[in-house]
Amino acid sequence: MAIERTFSIVKPDAVGNNKIGAIYSRFEDAGLKIVASKMLHLTKEQAEGFYAEHSERPFFGALVGFMTSGPIMVQVLEGENAVLAHRDILGATNPAEADAGTIRADFATSIDENAAHGSDSLESAAREIAYFFSTEELCARTR
Ligand code: UDP
Repeated sequence: MAIERTFSIVKPDAVGNNKIGAIYSRFEDAGLKIVASKMLHLTKEQAEGFYAEHSERPFFGALVGFMTSGPIMVQVLEGENAVLAHRDILGATNPAEADAGTIRADFATSIDENAAHGSDSLESAAREIAYFFSTEELCARTR
């Protein structure tokens, strides 16, 4: 099993609903360790840059509006097969299709406001971590 790092966002809807701790508990209960974490209120430019791959999609403007509508938590999670393990507990993009017990099934209301983000590959994880964190901000969890 490979120890990986992946990137995660608790989105503005879930922060607004006071679910930061509940969602962090899901990470820890799944064996994922938080190795960096901070609260941010994204600018339009930051949100557009983060979701640049979706810039031609019809929902892009609404997505940027949603992601800048309130503060978010950004975090780096570490663990065995962290990218897939995190996507598994996140659930499908559309909460109506997410498996019972997943973060999106339990905390999201719609595909537009779906509570949390998780990197979809190791390559995306590396890019997304670097978008928000310097290497000095990533902590070793050796204890
Ligand atoms: N999204 C949306 N409407 C759609 C599809 C996606 O608002 O029809 C948003 C949603 O917040 C999603 C994000 O765009 O989380 C990125 O989409 P992606 O397909 O990468 O899904 P994810 O990797 O987040 O599950």
